[in-house]
Parts: sequence; structure tokens; C-alpha cells
Amino acid sequence: MATVPTPSRKAARTSSAERWARFRSMLEEQRAECVRQRELALVDAVASLPDPVAMARGAQLLRTTEEIDAALARLEAGTYGRCVSCATGIPLERLEVRPSAARCVTCQQRAA
Ligand SMILES: [Zn+2]
Repeated sequence: MATVPTPSRKAARTSSAERWARFRSMLEEQRAECVRQRELALVDAVASLPDPVAMARGAQLLRTTEEIDAALARLEAGTYGRCVSCATGIPLERLEVRPSAARCVTCQQRAA
């Protein structure tokens, strides 16, 4: 009876990347959506009379895109999931709601 060797060490090494893979795809989806919505907002902003709502929306979407880019950069750097201020692990529940979160709730409230 042949036993299949279990690559437990390898699994342990890749688990971190696999753990974040879901967040990476969430971030990439959100980024694509932001870019798309921003294009629509910018079209609105120039098509109609100067539209401050559409312009503000475009600016907000640009900030969100930048937050997502920063989160993707942290994924690359291996620091994703850690607060950029205090290096505490950000709870997964928070990342589920906001994959681009850069700070833990405590630091976020302090920064706001
Ligand atoms: Zn923090």
C-alpha cells in the first residue's frame, strides 16, 4: 500500500500566500471597479455642466484606487495584514469588509 507523502513543510510555507490570495483577488476586483466608476464619474463631470458631485466622486475613487494599490504593494512586500502604524495584525474580519485597510481600528481612529 503506497502512501502519498504529505508536503506539510511546503504547505506551511505557501499557506501565507494562499491565505492572502483571496484578498488579492478582492483587491484587484475592487480596483477594476473603482477605475471603471471613476471613468464614468469623469465622463459625467465633463459631459454636464461643471458637476462638483461627479468631480468629488472621481477624486474619492482615485483615493480608493491608491489605497488598493498600496494594499497590493503590501501583499508583494509581505507586510499585508499588518497595521502600517503599529504592526499589529489586522483582524481578518476587518480585511473581509475592507481588504485595503492599512491600519488596525485603534490606529485608524487615532488617524481620523
Ligand atoms: Zn495599529
